[in-house]
Parts: sequence; structure tokens; C-alpha cells
Amino acid sequence: MRIRQLPDDLVNKIAAGEVIERPASIVKELVENALDAGATRIVVTTSAGGKSLIRIEDNGHGMGEEDLRLSVSRHATSKLKDDALDDIQTLGFRGEALASISAVAELSIATRAKDEELGLKLGFDGPRIVISPNPMPQGTVVEVKSLFKNVPARLKFLKSDRAEANAITDIMRRLAMSEPHVQFILQGSDRQTTNWPAQTGDSAAKNRLGQIMGNDFATNAVPVDYQRGPVRVTGMAALPTYTKANSLSQFYFVNGRPVRDKVLLGGVRGAYSDFLQRDRFPVVALFIDMPSADLDVNVHPAKSEVRFRDQGLVRAAVIRGLMNALDEAGFRASKTVSD
Ligand code: ADP
Ligand code: MG
Repeated sequence: MRIRQLPDDLVNKIAAGEVIERPASIVKELVENALDAGATRIVVTTSAGGKSLIRIEDNGHGMGEEDLRLSVSRHATSKLKDDALDDIQTLGFRGEALASISAVAELSIATRAKDEELGLKLGFDGPRIVISPNPMPQGTVVEVKSLFKNVPARLKFLKSDRAEANAITDIMRRLAMSEPHVQFILQGSDRQTTNWPAQTGDSAAKNRLGQIMGNDFATNAVPVDYQRGPVRVTGMAALPTYTKANSLSQFYFVNGRPVRDKVLLGGVRGAYSDFLQRDRFPVVALFIDMPSADLDVNVHPAKSEVRFRDQGLVRAAVIRGLMNALDEAGFRASKTVSD
């Protein structure tokens, strides 16, 4: 066999495997796009756990015709200013979500840019992009149908509608926590409607956390606010008397991005180690902020992982920030945790 260059649609399909694991991955990518577009109101509609329909409506800045056409091609992005991968201020930057989605599902995009008279709608006729006029208010509506209908291997691994709907709820909770000033509505035939109204003022972040985590958490948690060098740690941490049997109720955000991270998990475990049994997990929502140059967000296509330039510093900031907060609430650790 000779080496050959693969056709674009096959390349997109292969790449999609890394970005689009399940319906919740699509919701994440599309809501991130809406946030990057400056939306203040985002409505997410799903049915059959997102397998048959995912629809994301935003009131962001929308796209003009040229951008709309480019938006679905691979490695096309408006977000990498000066090609600076070490200074990423947006949630997206890889320019592959829409291309990937179009490779594994039916994708359509309706959009109207600010200052445009009329909106546009993009769809596909086979591989061909078709754009037509489409009256609508400013913003963007992305619709994804029949997910994985051309990828039987993936379709087979999807869980029940209910499990996929729950995974969507989980990622929506994380995104909603990270952007308290934005209104989020999550609705559809597979769920009860959730509405998180926009929060304003000094306690916006705290109020949003309360909306999402519930009263039990709010009354059993203390605020965290700590700075060490360039690393700031804020958020809420539950008292050691309020614990869970797993780490699913730990929420981590780095520069506004929901992440999973061993350094942060380890730091939290360290801070609570004096107070918790091994099989109990603290409940926390922690926001870590630092200069973008101290952080690599280009670790995995799904962008849920980051790498810190100085892991030790981040770990120490998390431990000390949490220990101070717990200490003030009367939970004084006996041993000195090295930081
Ligand atoms: P990325 O977000 O990494 O740039 P995407 O494939 O998710 O890649 O999107 C490609 C481009 O399409 C974005 O850079 C942006 O310019 C445009 N775009 C996508 N979604 C929206 C939206 N909801 N509103 C406005 N522009 C959008
Ligand atoms: Mg994106």
C-alpha cells in the first residue's frame, strides 16, 4: 500500500473522535462558543439525551457570511490573535469543534451579526455548504441532529437517554458556575426546565453557586479567597462535616475554564486530610486564576485539562487558601502541611 493524503471529510471524522465523545461534549463546545461570542443569554434544548437534538441559542455577536462559511472548516478560528498560543483569553482556540460536529452529525447554523439587516442560515447538501437568507434576531442558533448516525461504533457506546441527559446537566452546571453574569436555560423533552438567571453585583459568583449547588451547600460552606504570587484562589468550600462519597461534587475552574486536574484534586485532599476519612470527599467549587502565560491550555482536544507552569505553587495556593478558610471556621489542622 502506498501512503496517501486522506480526504478532508475523513480527517474531520477522525479528529471528531477526540473532541466529540458524547452529546455532552457537543453541548460544551457550543456553549463555549456562545460565551466566547459575548452572549448574555444562552438557551440549550435537548431531546433523547442529545442524541436526536441539541440546540444552542445565544444572543452573542453572531457571524457575517464569510465567517459563517469558514466557521465549519477545520482549523479556522477567530480567536487566536497573533497566533499566540501562550496568551489564550477565550474558551475556544482550536477551530475544530464545528468541523468535527459536522463530520459526525447533521449540523445547521443560523446567525445574524450585529449591525446586519438580515440573518443567514448554513446547512449542508452532501458535502456542499449551502447558505441562505434567514430573518432572525442578533445572535446564533446551532442545531445538531442525528448524532453519530454515520459512526456506528460511537453510537453503540452511548449510554441511555437519561444518562446522556445527566451528563449534559453536569457540564451545564459547570459552565453556569463559571459565568454567573450570563443567564442559562436548559430545557427539552428529556428534562425539566432549569433556569439560572443572570447574577449581578459583588456576590454574583456566590449566588450562582448557591443556585446550582443548593441551600445545603451554601449553609455548610465557607468562602475562599487567597493569593499566592500570581495565583489567586477563590470560591466556596464545604465544611468537613458536609462530605460526599465521591469527587463528583468538586468543581474546578482555571481562568474561567471548567477543568479536571490532579494537582487541584490533590491540593484539596491535602487541605482536608486532617478532617476526613479516606472514603469521604469534600465539596468545593474553586476558581484558580493566573496569568495566561503561566498556563498551557492546549493539552487535549477537549480542553478539559491544563498544565501549570509551576504545579507546586498552584498546589500550595490551593492548600493554604482552603486551610485558611477552614481554620477561620474553627477547623484547625493539627499537622503542618508543607507549602
Ligand atoms: P473555536 O471556538 O476553537 O474558534 P469552533 O469550531 O468552535 O472553533 O468555531 C469556529 C469559529 O466560528 C469561531 O472561532 C467563531 O468565530 C465562530 N463561531 C462559532 N460559534 C459561534 C457563535 N455561537 N457565535 C458567533 N461566532 C461563532
Ligand atoms: Mg469553539
